[in-house]
Amino acid sequence: MADIKVDIDRCKGCGLCVPQCPKLLIKMSEKMNEQGNFYPIIDKEKCVACGLCWQMCPDLAIKLKEAKRKP
Ligand code: SF4
Ligand code: SF4
Repeated sequence: MADIKVDIDRCKGCGLCVPQCPKLLIKMSEKMNEQGNFYPIIDKEKCVACGLCWQMCPDLAIKLKEAKRKP
């Protein structure tokens, strides 16, 4: 289990994070956020904190506690 969260209101629903997950743990929501965007739902129980989804998000909407940005 990883300490990973999606900041739903920052998400613009681009879906770029979804195919990044090597374990296929990311699905897009059926509900929309306040801006009318679908957002990812991550199975955090199975997440191995690899950081690939987190690194891909252009809007910094994924928060992963274990991850550190590359310089
Ligand atoms: S951190 Fe890695 S394992 Fe976890 S949801 Fe993102 S891509 Fe998948
Ligand atoms: S990459 Fe970021 S902005 Fe795009 S759907 Fe995923 S969390 Fe939302």
